[in-house]
Amino acid sequence: MKEILVATHNLHKKEEIQQILGEKYKITSLTDYNIHDEIIEDGNSFHENALIKAKFCFEKTGKPSLGDDSGLVVPALDGRPGIFSARYAGDHDFDKNIEKVLEEMQNEESREAYFITVLCLHDENSTHYFEGRVYGNLSKERSGKKGFGYDPIFIPENYEISFADMPSEEKNAISHRKNALDKFLQFLEK
Ligand code: IMP
Repeated sequence: MKEILVATHNLHKKEEIQQILGEKYKITSLTDYNIHDEIIEDGNSFHENALIKAKFCFEKTGKPSLGDDSGLVVPALDGRPGIFSARYAGDHDFDKNIEKVLEEMQNEESREAYFITVLCLHDENSTHYFEGRVYGNLSKERSGKKGFGYDPIFIPENYEISFADMPSEEKNAISHRKNALDKFLQFLEK
């Protein structure tokens, strides 16, 4: 069974990846290695940040490592919040971050947006990237209590409800993370 170390302490993330990749792979996390150093994500792009995380894990353990970086991109806001999604107005303060985006969107005609995930697989031989997106529009008001982050204001294409209104299985079937993980799986199965 091939081990892949995921650069996270988030058990939910680890389990989602394990579920999508299946039993041929053993997904481990930083928690399993008792590594608690802070990883400084100071890259200028999702790709750079994903690589920083994957490299950090590989250098610590020598295991093939997977880093990920995600965020919300709004073309009308020149791509913001982008790589600053988690701390746009306040560090992991989802409510403040949404408030700032809604304020900035007040006079914008286009409310198009997308979530993006970039995964980076890094080991001694190679570095590979896998990118997933889900397109949609930003609503003017929050709706729904499920999910996290910008879910209450993101209405995916072909839907009339926000990510935060959907059962998690429905969101996880169409999400940026799922799209990126599907590409990763295709690569592993090649
Ligand atoms: P991370 O790289 O997965 O930690 O995501 C960074 C930030 O992007 C999160 O703190 C959220 O603000 C935002 N984000 C990423 N994925 C989602 C999502 O599925 N729904 C809502 N917000 C998200």
